[in-house]
Amino acid sequence: MSNNIFDVISSSISVPNALAIETDGGARLSYGDVVALSGKMANALVRLGLKPGDRLAAQVEKSTDSVILYLATVRAGGVFLPLNTAYTPRELEYFLGDAEPAIFVCDPARLDLLQPVAKASGARVVTLDASNGGTLADAARESEANFATIPRERDDLAALLYTSGTTGRSKGAMLTHGNLVSNALTLRHAWHYSSADILIHALPIFHTHGLFVATNVTLLSGASMILLAKFDPARILGLMARATVLMGVPTFYVRLLDEPGLTRQATASMRLFVSGSAPLLEETHRRWQERTGHAILERYGMTETNMNASNPYDGERIAGTVGMPLPGVELRIADADGNEMAAGEIGMIEVRGPNVFTGYWRMPEKTAEELRLNGFFITGDLGCIDERGYVRIVGRGKDLIISGGFNVYPKEVEAEIDVLEGVVESAVIGLPHRDFGEAVTAVVVCEKNAPQDAAAILSLLQERLARYKLPKQVVFVDDLPRNTMGKVQKNLLRDRFSRLYSE
Ligand code: AMP
Repeated sequence: MSNNIFDVISSSISVPNALAIETDGGARLSYGDVVALSGKMANALVRLGLKPGDRLAAQVEKSTDSVILYLATVRAGGVFLPLNTAYTPRELEYFLGDAEPAIFVCDPARLDLLQPVAKASGARVVTLDASNGGTLADAARESEANFATIPRERDDLAALLYTSGTTGRSKGAMLTHGNLVSNALTLRHAWHYSSADILIHALPIFHTHGLFVATNVTLLSGASMILLAKFDPARILGLMARATVLMGVPTFYVRLLDEPGLTRQATASMRLFVSGSAPLLEETHRRWQERTGHAILERYGMTETNMNASNPYDGERIAGTVGMPLPGVELRIADADGNEMAAGEIGMIEVRGPNVFTGYWRMPEKTAEELRLNGFFITGDLGCIDERGYVRIVGRGKDLIISGGFNVYPKEVEAEIDVLEGVVESAVIGLPHRDFGEAVTAVVVCEKNAPQDAAAILSLLQERLARYKLPKQVVFVDDLPRNTMGKVQKNLLRDRFSRLYSE
């Protein structure tokens, strides 16, 4: 058997008739269907020109076919590049130009808008919509189900996932089949996953959490998933009676706590609630336990490394920590020179293991900056390890804002605001927000006599930035506070406006 993630998944299928994926719309795919449909789609992709090592970029809505598209791409030896559905054509221009995919898959409704962007990158465009329609779906339907999966080695690329960059440019994290296989096997074991599990899958599948953690682990276990197009607390609550696992970002749990129906009884058949992608407030953990009797299992990972640490399945799940390094993953706290620090001290979290990516796509300098020669990846997160071995993340070395589980880099938003007429400069900060964890907030300095018009700024930004990056509020100040080195003191702004969303 090769190390192709698909081969590893299919070799663990013991009951082809067992249910793999179901949707709200009534679709039900067995494991046999998943193999056949991904075979059809893989044949269609090869006919469209996809060769092993080629990238396939997809900006598609969540559907059974979008999961099949991921599987078909890796079966054909391609490199899957999922793109946030909120990205604007301007943003896509960068991703397609950088990754140079052989094929770009988009929603038919956006074809006219995106065709020129794809053309400029040299990609062939096909379409797929939320109800499994589109030119790619048609081509797959007419194709053979038999497909000999292309063997892949551990180091061969399986996916290219873009992260945001502090300098405004996103970086493509190159993930191998070995990365995906090792992490999925590790999590299956760590979280006691089995074929009896039913996952409520409400995460987007363009991000490592929904795509790799949720999808790979479920399929590798012969379990099933209820694929939901979006997060709907009432709907999820209703499904808990017949599901066993929920994976979510902290926002999911905050919103579910607003549901009066969230009780011990409503969650009695659930065995595991996983949270990650952003810090879960200790208060949320405590309230969840009070209401349901379940301790949320918080884990820590990132695009470049898959999952690094997890609270224990059997042992104590400690609120405010992300648990211990997963088996096979080395996690250490180091100073700027990479020297390991004493227990309890705060420093940069570095990780090494089979889960860690091989580098940034076509960015050897960035790779060298963040991936040490000894294999440790410098995560950019600051943290410490307590005397019991639990990892605590205390902050982010970079200025990342995590809003509703999505990463927003202030620099990128600031750059778009600063070019607007009448604006002198801006500072974008994350402020505490009950629902989103952090709310993107723009602090703007306008030219004298220029109108301070928050609505006008927001409406101009809407054309240029994905929705989740848009400031929730724009506030105006006369000057930005600066230190003697001329750096904007964002900490002072955060303090000054800390109650903006709680007032
Ligand atoms: P992404 O690459 O989008 O998955 O974002 C990764 C970043 O999310 C990490 O570097 C952390 O800063 C943050 N993150 C992920 N999980 C957690 C967690 N459980 N607690 C705090 N921060 C987290």
